[in-house]
Amino acid sequence: MPDLRFGVHAGVWGFDWTPDAAERTIREAAEIGYDLLEIPAIDPALLDAVDTARALDRHGIEPAVSLALTFDDDITSADPARVARGERRLRDAVDFAATIGATFVGGVVFSAMGRYLELPTARAREGSLAVLRGVAASAAERGVTIGVEYVNRYESNLLNTAAQTLRFLDDLDAPNAVVHLDTFHASIEEVSVPAAVVAAGPRLGYVHMSESHRGRLGTGTIDWSAFARTLDAAGFTGPVTVETFSSAVIDDAAAIDIGLWRQMWTDPTELAASTIDFLRRRFAVAVPA
Ligand code: MN
Repeated sequence: MPDLRFGVHAGVWGFDWTPDAAERTIREAAEIGYDLLEIPAIDPALLDAVDTARALDRHGIEPAVSLALTFDDDITSADPARVARGERRLRDAVDFAATIGATFVGGVVFSAMGRYLELPTARAREGSLAVLRGVAASAAERGVTIGVEYVNRYESNLLNTAAQTLRFLDDLDAPNAVVHLDTFHASIEEVSVPAAVVAAGPRLGYVHMSESHRGRLGTGTIDWSAFARTLDAAGFTGPVTVETFSSAVIDDAAAIDIGLWRQMWTDPTELAASTIDFLRRRFAVAVPA
């Protein structure tokens, strides 16, 4: 798969996006050899998008943007204030992407990321679709694709499989919306992770490479060789983006958000470097000279 593009989630280095932290993350991701860096769309008041764009340009790495809605800004909510906050966050993420030169905004953009204590309803699904239709239309005007990342049952009640996500995309009817597949979530909910790739077919637009325990790739139960063969057969060229976090570098609030209850690794630079080596072997990608 010589053309496959590899990305890494900025959260590998932590969720601090002050200028110095951003510069270090962007520089290390580029130096290690990643083609793409996924940057969380945090509160626009807390980051300098122009500064980020300059650093990306300086180090020659492509950005992508991601976010996960919360119960306070859940667009499936019956509370119009929460829906409005969610729509604002999604539109801000698209603005941030356009400012830093990213053409992709993905993640849990369709509901809160969290354990729902209620069944999904048709009203909730319609509410989500209505917001996303508007967001996707304005994203399209700016050349931005929206990735719908389905997650496991403990992190959303709305979309847990590729098949559900395809039906959602059919109803959304936005040409710039794609399936964002995360191998961790797929390994919990699907018949197999490769089956999710096959199900998504040509609507697969973005992949999170995440181990079954969310730690270092190759140390869990996901069959990465089978996954690589399936992506290759599907003609998918990426990006495939490494997503793993460690309490060694993220704060307690972020760890609680993602259910990270134990330390999976300690050194982000070592993790990022050894993971791209692992991926190049598994995906039989030539190492650049
Ligand atoms: Mn993910």
